[in-house]
Amino acid sequence: DAEVVFVGRSNVGKSTLMRQLTGHQFSTGGKPGVTRRPNHYDWAPESFVLTDLPGFGFMEGVPEERRERIKTDIVRYLETHADDILVGVLVVDGKSVVDIIDRHAERGEIPHDVELFHFLEELGIPPVVAVNKMDKVDDRDERLNELCERLGLLPPWQQWRDTIAPISAKRGNVDALTDAVRTHLHEAKRDDL
Ligand code: GDP
Repeated sequence: DAEVVFVGRSNVGKSTLMRQLTGHQFSTGGKPGVTRRPNHYDWAPESFVLTDLPGFGFMEGVPEERRERIKTDIVRYLETHADDILVGVLVVDGKSVVDIIDRHAERGEIPHDVELFHFLEELGIPPVVAVNKMDKVDDRDERLNELCERLGLLPPWQQWRDTIAPISAKRGNVDALTDAVRTHLHEAKRDDL
C-alpha cells in the first residue's frame, strides 16, 4: 500500500482531516508536540497508509529543545522513508497561512511551511498542500494564488491541482485532496511500468 505522510503545524486541523479520512478518533486540541512517534492508519477505501507525523512549528509552551527534537525526528523519518512515500501532505490553515509566511519572511526567517514544502521536493517526495478551513476564506482564488506565489508556484492555482488542494475538513469537503493524492498514485504506477 502507498504511504502518505501528514505534517502540519498545530491547530491547522490535521487531526480533524485525518479523522475524516480514516475514521480513527484522533485527540484534537491536544497539547502540540505530544505525538512524537509516527503512527500509521488505514486510509480506506483508497488503500493508502496514512502516517501521522508529529506537529511542528510554533508549539507554544513547548521548550525549544523539545521542538528541535521533534523537527529532527520528522526530518529523519522523511529521509529514511523517502523512497517508499507516495506523497507528503502538508496541512495548512487557508485563512492564516499566507500572513504567517509573510510575517516570518519579514523577520528574515524561513517559514516552517515553506521550508518543509521544499524539503519534501528535495527528497523526491511530491508535496500536496491541503489548504484547510476554506469555509472561512472569502477571497478564495486570491488567497490560493498568493499561497502559490509564496511556494514558488506560478499562479493561477488551478494549474496546480495535484499540489494545491483546498479543503474543509470540518465540513467533510476533502475531495480535492483525495483527487490530488490519486493523481500522484497514477503517476507513480505509470513510472513503474
Ligand atoms: P490539529 O492541531 O492540526 O490537529 O487541529 P485540530 O484538528 O485539533 O483542529 C483545530 C481547530 O480547527 C478545531 O477547533 C477544529 O474544529 C478546527 N477546524 C478543523 N478543520 C476545520 C475546517 O475545515 N474549518 C474550520 N472552520 N475549522 C476547522
